Amino acid sequence: MNPNQVIGEENPFEAMHARFDLAANKLGLDQGLYRILRTPDRELTVAIPVYMDDGSLQVFTGYRVQHSLARGPAKGGIRYDPNVTIDEVRALAAWMTWKCAVVNVPFGGGKGGVVCSPSKLSMGEMERITRRYVANILDIIGPDRDVPAPDMGTNGQVMAWIMDTYSMHVRKASTAVVTGKPVGLGGSLGRIEATGRGLQICAREALKMMGRDPKTCTAAVQGAGNVGQVTAMYLDQMGVKVCAISDITGAIVDEKGLDVTAVRTHLAKFRTLEGYGEGDRITNAQLLELPVDILVPAATENVINSRNAANIKAKLLVEGANGPVTAAADKLLDEKGVFVVPDILANAGGVSVSYFEWVQDRMGYFWTEKEVDDRLEAMMTKAFSDVVDMARRFEVSNRIAAYLLGIDRVAKITRMRGIYA
Ligand code: GLU
Repeated sequence: MNPNQVIGEENPFEAMHARFDLAANKLGLDQGLYRILRTPDRELTVAIPVYMDDGSLQVFTGYRVQHSLARGPAKGGIRYDPNVTIDEVRALAAWMTWKCAVVNVPFGGGKGGVVCSPSKLSMGEMERITRRYVANILDIIGPDRDVPAPDMGTNGQVMAWIMDTYSMHVRKASTAVVTGKPVGLGGSLGRIEATGRGLQICAREALKMMGRDPKTCTAAVQGAGNVGQVTAMYLDQMGVKVCAISDITGAIVDEKGLDVTAVRTHLAKFRTLEGYGEGDRITNAQLLELPVDILVPAATENVINSRNAANIKAKLLVEGANGPVTAAADKLLDEKGVFVVPDILANAGGVSVSYFEWVQDRMGYFWTEKEVDDRLEAMMTKAFSDVVDMARRFEVSNRIAAYLLGIDRVAKITRMRGIYA
């Protein structure tokens, strides 16, 4: 066994708690607030009966967790994945609370999940699962209560069904109940690109601090979903040589740099990297350990952990996924001097433009792509500098600094509102 290996590090809710405890301690958070902010406000588990295409009746399990409503309506995506667990949704909901506070948008944090395999479902089955799930969580969502969005396994079409189902029940068109909708149905320009654009801004700012020119840097991106693909595109546009990208079938690598546009064209056509002609094939695990300057884990949780953290060669880690690094791996990365842009900062571009979408829906007045992009740029650069300032002030890692910033903002609002106990 690897001497660094930590048993049980994969539970994301415990991973969230480990960082929360460190930050709360640094902040000197009082015991009462510590207990409040560590615990989700509300958790709902629902059974989702659905007629499948073969005529059978299946029952799926769905969750919606609202971690905090202190700063505004709960905000966060809905994940469709066979491995969804309640502890994962709890962690993701809490991360949304800290993420929204880090970029300073007036939202709390929530997350949803349905245990299902989207790749094995027909469109009709996906639609029926979505509509019944929404009907079952209807009482706790709404533009002023809890505003879902896309996450792993869901997309604009799923958001359109959510908007429609909710609107049918409340007897009016309610676009602001969900974000990440298609443009034309209350969606915002720039929302699809937002997470990747935010990651690019963070990478650019981090390289500036490290005294590195993007044009001399190489990168590897794990994940070819919306986040991974778009990040690869923006890194490429910034002059970074993107040497590797992966999906669940494995990775493609070319040390001379991949043709990112050709990779994206292949993905748009086949929805998999399989069959892409250029470059060599390696595993996802090998991609993470490539000798590149920038590593972007944009797939799922726990991929950098106590077993492989010591082998990471990148000097800059920009976290596209939520929770890609375990708490045990934090220490190993710190020791190696890796500059980490943590998930709750790095991938916050998505929820930032979700906020812009919600604002536009409520006004019924829509912005140009440039307006969205300028506001995103301002929001992300401010959040980035707030986090690095915090890291300097408290002499902590960027990750703990982001938690400090998020927790402090939520704690201040909670004290201001007073505790209804
Ligand atoms: N699912 C995305 C995230 O984890 C977006 C959430 C949102 O836009 O509400 O940040």
